[in-house]
Parts: sequence; C-alpha cells; structure tokens
Amino acid sequence: MHVVVLGGGYAGLTLTRELEKRVPTDANLELTLVNDSPDHLVQHELHRVLRRPELANAITVSLPAVLDRATVRVARVEALDRERQTIRLSDGTLSYDIAAVCLGAQTATHGLEGVREHAIPFKCLGDAFAVRRRAREALRVRHQDTPQFVVCGGGLSGIQVAGELAALVREGHGSNADATPSVTLLEQLDTVAPQFDAPFQRAVTAALESVGVTVRTGTAVTRVTPSAVGLESGEELPAECVVWTGGIRGTDALDRERPMVGPALELDERTFVLGDAALMTDVEGAAVPASAQSAIQAARALAPTIAGLVSGERDDSEERDRGSGPESVSVSVSASVSASASANFAFDSPGWVVSVGDDAVAQVGSRVLTGRGARLLKSGVRLRYLAEVGAADRAAALAREEIDHRLPFEFDRES
Ligand SMILES: Cc1cc2nc3c(=O)[nH]c(=O)nc-3n(C[C@H](O)[C@H](O)[C@H](O)COP(=O)(O)OP(=O)(O)OC[C@H]3O[C@@H](n4cnc5c(N)ncnc54)[C@H](O)[C@@H]3O)c2cc1C
Repeated sequence: MHVVVLGGGYAGLTLTRELEKRVPTDANLELTLVNDSPDHLVQHELHRVLRRPELANAITVSLPAVLDRATVRVARVEALDRERQTIRLSDGTLSYDIAAVCLGAQTATHGLEGVREHAIPFKCLGDAFAVRRRAREALRVRHQDTPQFVVCGGGLSGIQVAGELAALVREGHGSNADATPSVTLLEQLDTVAPQFDAPFQRAVTAALESVGVTVRTGTAVTRVTPSAVGLESGEELPAECVVWTGGIRGTDALDRERPMVGPALELDERTFVLGDAALMTDVEGAAVPASAQSAIQAARALAPTIAGLVSGERDDSEERDRGSGPESVSVSVSASVSASASANFAFDSPGWVVSVGDDAVAQVGSRVLTGRGARLLKSGVRLRYLAEVGAADRAAALAREEIDHRLPFEFDRES
C-alpha cells in the first residue's frame, strides 16, 4: 500500500515518523513524503533569525536524516485528484492508496493594495533574511533619525516578529536614545493573540509594550505603499519596513482553500488533511487554532488510523493468500476503512508560550507566566521538539546558543 504524506512541516514530519514507528516492518507499506524542499523548517523559531542569522542552520532539519523507511521526494505539489487518487507534482505524477495533506498554509494578503509589492511575509528563511536586511538598512540610513517598523497581524507570528524586531532595532541603535526606532504592531481585531485566552492576551500586550512595541488593536490596514501603511481611518502610518503576518489561506494545490474537517481529519476514505492546511474541529466540536502544537497533535491522532489501514490491508492479503482470491488494493482499503476506527482528534493544549524579544509569555492551564519561568518553558519547548523529531544535533546547537546569548542576560537581570 502506498501512503503519501504531502508536506514536511510539523504535521507531515510527525505523521511520517509516527507511521515509521507504528507500522510493522513486514507490512506492505511504501511510504513517501513529498516536500518542496529537502528540509523541515522549525517555523516557530523563525523570528529568532532576525537577530541571530546564525540560527538558520539550527532550525533547518534535513528530512532524509530524520527518516528511516520513508522516501523523501523533493517536488512541488500542484494538484490533488481524489477521484483518480493521483497527485500532480512539479516533476511528474504520483498515485496513492492513502494521502495525508499536510501542506500548511500560505500568507493571505486579502487582495489589499500594495501588500504583495511592499510588505514582506514571514513564512520562510528567505523572508526572515529579507526583513533583517531591510530593517538594518533603515537603521543604517536613518541612524540619527527614527525609522518606523510596522508589523501587520497580531497572531503568534506577528507577536514574536514584533518583539524580535524591537530587540533588533534596540541593539542596532545602540545608545542613541533620542532616535529610538519605533515598532508598531497592528491588529484589526480587539486584541492581539485573538485565538487565545484573555489573561494571555493581556500579558502578551504588556510584554510587547515593555520592549517598546506600540500595540494598536482594532486597527484595520487598507493598503501598503513604499513608505507607509494606510489605515481604515484614513491615517497614513510612515513605515520603512512592513512585515505582513495578517492571516493565512489554503495552498494553491488545494485551490487556496482550507477545507473544514472534523475529528476524523478526513476528506474522504483515503484522503486526510491536517495542520494549517485545514480548518480543524476536534471531538468537542471546538475550532482548533492554527499552530505547530495543533499540527503535531493532529498528526499523532491520525497515525494509528493510517497504520490500522495498512495493517488491515495486510490482514486482508493474508486472507487472500489463504484462498479468498485476488482483490485490488483499493478494495481491501475500503474494507478496512469501514472495519477500522477513525481518528478521533481531541485537541488538548497544555498551554502556549511565545517569546517577546528576550522575554517570553507562557500560559500553563489558567496560569500566565512571564520572566525566567516563561523563558525556560520556551527553551524547553524548542529543545524537546527538535529532540522528538530526531534532530538532537540541532537541539544541541540551539542549547549552545541559549547558553551563549541568554544566560548572562538572565543572571544580570534576575540574580
Ligand atoms: C514566526 C512564526 C512563529 C510561530 N510561533 C508559533 C508558536 O510559538 N507556537 C505554535 O504552536 N505555532 C507557531 N507558529 C505557527 C506554526 O509554525 C504553524 O502553525 C505550523 O507551521 C503549521 O504546521 P503545518 O505542518 O500545518 O504546516 P507547515 O509547518 O507550514 O508545513 C508545511 C510544509 O509543506 C511544504 N509545502 C507547502 N506547500 C507545498 C507544495 N505545494 N508542495 C510541496 N511542499 C509544500 C512546506 O515547505 C512545509 O514544509 C509560528 C509561525 C511563524 C511563522
């Protein structure tokens, strides 16, 4: 049976590794992971590259190096034909018995004037380097003046980018206090981190303000020009560097849609979709936030179902070998689909943690933490994730960076 996982991000890599572990080695499994790059990007650490470009390697994990049985195919997924069970790739076509779509999402510009041309999205290393270059150039050219940096969108990425940018410009500006560069975070809803609890939202806002970010909520952007961000109110906010994290949409391969799926995560009996690629609702009927944490949990919930389908097919083939005659793989797949339990995705978040410059804000249960406790949690999350996906060397590199850059700072402030 050919199982194809599309996308090697959090959902795709976790699912592929889980299948490698769960499906017995003597099962009839051909496992292919398709990704548009040979590497997995640890996106939830991407903002840190703004100040520490040397971290780019530590957050880039070679897919073949952390996979065992799966074949990694580096190609762009262009379209999915569920009727024919085929996938059109940039370099050919792939047939599947079971497909899991884990293609993540793309940045939504909502058709707003000038966003594509003048604002920088924040999804990949190229984006992080582009923002860094533009910010540093603005600081260099306007050294005696006050460059303006604007981040549009107050979700997980916008918050962390704004915090990091504030720290970058503070470091870049040295002690020139009269010319403190300004970083503004714009969010059209009434609060930053709109998908999260109110105490977390308040703590994140306070942390952003304490590092010098001006947080403006209830502020909708209507256009971006080479030198300003236009607001619904008619105000023009001067801006040398605009970062756009103002929403997500489905990938082109899914016609720009994020299909809605319930706790079984299925589009049909043989096709599943999970992570940011989908609008997921869990077993409680609750909307699951687009996040790395959700993508990983969904992949773990789905893996036993797919492993069950593969093993079901093995049982069916054993039946056939005992004389029930040849049957096509697809017949045995549908038989085992009805026989096996579907995924029952119950999203259960232990909490959330974001970094805001050198600080962090965490929510654990109903408690909100800042300061050292939150920073330690953030480090723990990043190191644990890398160790879990088999990238212990990357975890070690990040740990070294923590020791080099963070500990002296912590002792200074808190001992
Ligand atoms: C700066 C930043 C900070 C963040 N912080 C947090 C955080 O603190 N906590 C948290 O939980 N989440 C955070 N997130 C969100 C989190 O990164 C996403 O929700 C998560 O990446 C979604 O995982 P995924 O597997 O669905 O998609 P992705 O991780 O985006 O993976 C999709 C994969 O598919 C590949 N792909 C896409 N299209 C194609 C195609 N057509 N063909 C082939 N391959 C393709 C991509 O290259 C990628 O490898 C942050 C995001 C950013 C950008």
